This record gives sequence, C-alpha cells and structure tokens, in this order.
Amino acid sequence: MIIVMKKGATQEDVHSVEERIREWGYSAHTIYGAERTVVGAVGVPEADKARYMESLEAMPCVEKVIAILRPYKFASREYHPEGTVVDVNGIPVGGKQVVIMAGPCTVETYEQTWESAVACHAAGATILRGGAYKPSTSPYSFQGHGEEGLKILRDVADKLGMRVVTEVMDPRNVELVCRYADILQIGTRNMQNYDLLREVGRVRTPVLLKRGMWARIEEWMQAAEYILVGGNPNVILCERGIRTFETHTRNTLDLSAVPAVKELSHLPIIVDPSQGTGKRSLVEAMSKAAIAAGADGLLIEVHPHPDQAIKDGAQSLTCEGFCNLMRNLRPVVEAVGRTL
Ligand code: PEP
Ligand code: MN
Repeated sequence: MIIVMKKGATQEDVHSVEERIREWGYSAHTIYGAERTVVGAVGVPEADKARYMESLEAMPCVEKVIAILRPYKFASREYHPEGTVVDVNGIPVGGKQVVIMAGPCTVETYEQTWESAVACHAAGATILRGGAYKPSTSPYSFQGHGEEGLKILRDVADKLGMRVVTEVMDPRNVELVCRYADILQIGTRNMQNYDLLREVGRVRTPVLLKRGMWARIEEWMQAAEYILVGGNPNVILCERGIRTFETHTRNTLDLSAVPAVKELSHLPIIVDPSQGTGKRSLVEAMSKAAIAAGADGLLIEVHPHPDQAIKDGAQSLTCEGFCNLMRNLRPVVEAVGRTL
C-alpha cells in the first residue's frame, strides 16, 4: 500500500500515518518528494488491505491510498502514472528529448578522453560516459584509473559543458564518485549488490541502473526499488543485453524490455547497444530500434582509435562513426515524435 499525503501535510501528520501502520505490525517507509510525501506500508496481507486502506483514507491528512500488488511499489507505474523525468543537473531524462550519453568505455588518458568527448559533444551528445572504476572478469586486466580518471572526466566535461556518467562499484566510494559525477552508473554485475544499491539510495545523485545480464525484468524492478525506498527518487534504467545461448553477439539486446518497462514502471529507460551487441557494425541499427521502441536515451561507446582501446574496442564507434550515427538517428527520433 502507498499512502499519498495531502499537499501541506506536516511532519506530525506523516508520523501519525507511520505510527498507525507500525501499530498494525507493518513497516513504513517514507519518501519526501519535492511535490508530495508518500508513505509505503510494506507487508500488509491481502485479506486485511481493504480494512486498513479505509482507515487510512479517513485520516484528514491523507490524499489517497493505493494498493499495489507487485513486489515493487515505488518503481511501479501505479504509484506514479505519469512518467518520471530525472533532472541531471539541467538535462531532463525521460522527457520529449532523447538523451545521448557517449564517450569511451574506459578513461585511458586525458587526450583520449578529450578527443572522444569533443567528437561526441560536437555530434550532439550531452552526457559524457567513461569508466574510472572498471569491473573486470580477470583480476589481471586493467581496473581503471580510479579518482584520477574521475578528475579527467570532470575536467573534460566541464570544458565542454557536458554532464558525466561513470560507474561506482564499491559502496565505500559512493561519496567520492558523487563529487565528480552527475550520474552514478551501477553496472550489470552489481545490479543485485544490495549494499551498493542501499548506499546509492542514500544520496540524491541520479543513478543509472543497468540490467543484470542474468536478471528478469521483475528482479531489475526490485533492484530499482532498493534505491527508491532508500530515498533517492532519481533512477534511470538501462537495458544492456542479457546472456542467452547466442554467442554471435556479446549479449542479446532485449529491446522488448523497453516497452515492457514503460508499462510496468514510471522510471525512464535508456539502451546501451554497445555492450548489448559487442559489435560496432550493429550499434546503429540497434540504436534506431531502441528509439523506435520508446527508449529515452542511448549509452554509446566512442573511441578515437578503437583498435588501440584498452577495453571494448570492437564495439566502440570511431568519432566519425558516432557523427554518422547521430545524423542517421534524426529521422527516427522525429518519426516517433521526439527530439534529439
Ligand atoms: C560499461 O558501460 O562499460 C560496462 C562495463 O557496462 P556493463 O556493466 O553493462 O557491462
Ligand atoms: Mn564497456
């Protein structure tokens, strides 16, 4: 159950609702939004819901009570029928405009990051991507430059007026990464790292939650719920492909997840066709398809010299390739009534 408080409800009003829920033996999680405060009552058995709803609805400080059957409440469309627009320091994600996040897989050097960013920015990307902390299958491969990489990203983005999206892997680093990033990326391997999800739920920096490569949509929504119930309402989802029996592509990019998530949730969703396919030649077609399917943005890897990239060169576009992609996306974006 979700209890929506009336506009202007006081702290005392909120406490009275929380108290009532706790008296019944259930837990209450309150989210203080900019517009309204909502209290989630978790664990109420189906048989008792109607009675409790009636009792809460009778309280003068309560606007309405919504029953939600799904295992995720705050992430559900029922909770927030209009789509959510996440504000990334002035750039709306989830609105009419399709947002392009682009840059290298990994921050290698200042020059490489700069070259990639200049090309991405010139072609119309507004958010610079790049890994400073890299999840690696092998402990012997490159792990990223850490804070040095964050400094490079911030400096390059500031010079170009871009925002920064970068991965955080360790709950102990959330505060540090927040100092440099505009969006915290949770990678596919960490989608069910609950300590990390709780930690990014404590801050207000937007979070890009990638789908676990093994995760069902319902599990992904529950991962988002961890962040939302923790108090951070700024969650953007990212479909990046799942593991199937197919090996021709690096992952199977599940574009049906885009309209499915739009039905189930109010959160914005973007698509990463770079990790999604693992092949440069497939990125443009899947980018177009993602936008046609309703994606709110794209996350794309661009490297000035993909053949020399430390990581993910085979799926990285060249600067020229990215420029072509942006040009070719425009008619698709316009056809679905959006802007680039
Ligand atoms: C990446 O964006 O470079 C990355 C490592 O993504 P994922 O977590 O989806 O593999
Ligand atoms: Mn990558």
